[in-house]
Amino acid sequence: QAKTTGRARWHFFDDTMHAQALARLNIEDQLREAITASQFVVFYQPIVALADAHVVGHEALVRWAHPNRGLLSPGEFLEIAEDTGLITAIGAQVLDQVCAMLAEHPDLPGPISVNVSAVQLAAPDWLTTVRDTLATHRVDPARIVIEVTETAVLSLVDSARTALTSLRELGIGIHLDDFGTGYSSISVLRDLPVTGVKLDLRFVHDLTADDSQANALAEGVNGLVKGLHLTGIAEGIETQMQANILRDQGWEHGQGYYFGKPATTPLPP
Ligand code: C2E
Ligand code: MG
Ligand code: MG
Ligand code: MG
Repeated sequence: QAKTTGRARWHFFDDTMHAQALARLNIEDQLREAITASQFVVFYQPIVALADAHVVGHEALVRWAHPNRGLLSPGEFLEIAEDTGLITAIGAQVLDQVCAMLAEHPDLPGPISVNVSAVQLAAPDWLTTVRDTLATHRVDPARIVIEVTETAVLSLVDSARTALTSLRELGIGIHLDDFGTGYSSISVLRDLPVTGVKLDLRFVHDLTADDSQANALAEGVNGLVKGLHLTGIAEGIETQMQANILRDQGWEHGQGYYFGKPATTPLPP
């Protein structure tokens, strides 16, 4: 869909835009090769209980081990992967690695959270991929959480909403990522089978020692999360001050460089 729109616009490209379009096509080709050659690596970042910093789970974050550009973060390829639909194949490889990790480490604390794009949820065979991958590795669905951004949820077609509901029925958790950055935070909580909320890091970074509007917002979201009996995770915690403020507000879980950076192996309990 997005690709077709893109093509139509190419009539108006000047030289710079032409170069950008070529670079994009080049990345698209390289992404196809990367899928065939399995160049994707999964990093794991710990999620901790703010009360005592013990590990309660991990988030899986994909990296592309590019043959000549080194390790690339999602920011450098995710948009193209989504626009071309290649994210579905990449996501299948990520899930496979995550399930292999869970099977290999039955004592790993808590679930592993996997990011999923709207494109993946809308793909007709995504649900089957999830079921098959869990079965192949004999992984309990309760050990997987799907993270979907609030913005992605807004654009979800009915089939994708149904897919989310089916995933939830399998026993998989559903967390709303980057919470607070979309336009419909509260109605999404009502309309979808959400089990947890991740407070966007922008709110965390705005926290101040003296009470500010940012502090009130974070506290308010936690009230909402608690009232709905959801799991609350504050993202992007970089300082002890942020960790303490969120803990004192009653935020249950936290994640960020202060507790642990994404790494190739998960942290032990
Ligand atoms: P996200 O799901 O919101 O993940 C959190 C991002 O914040 C990650 O960036 C993580 O490395 C970074 N982060 C963690 N702690 C801190 C901190 O203390 N400070 C700051 N400034 N940043 C922190 P990353 O790994 O570059 O991923 C970016 C986004 O790409 C993710 O945002 C997620 O939306 C998407 N993504 C990552 N892996 C996958 C995947 O396997 N599939 C899909 N569809 N999307 C993915
Ligand atoms: Mg996430
Ligand atoms: Mg996030
Ligand atoms: Mg994000």
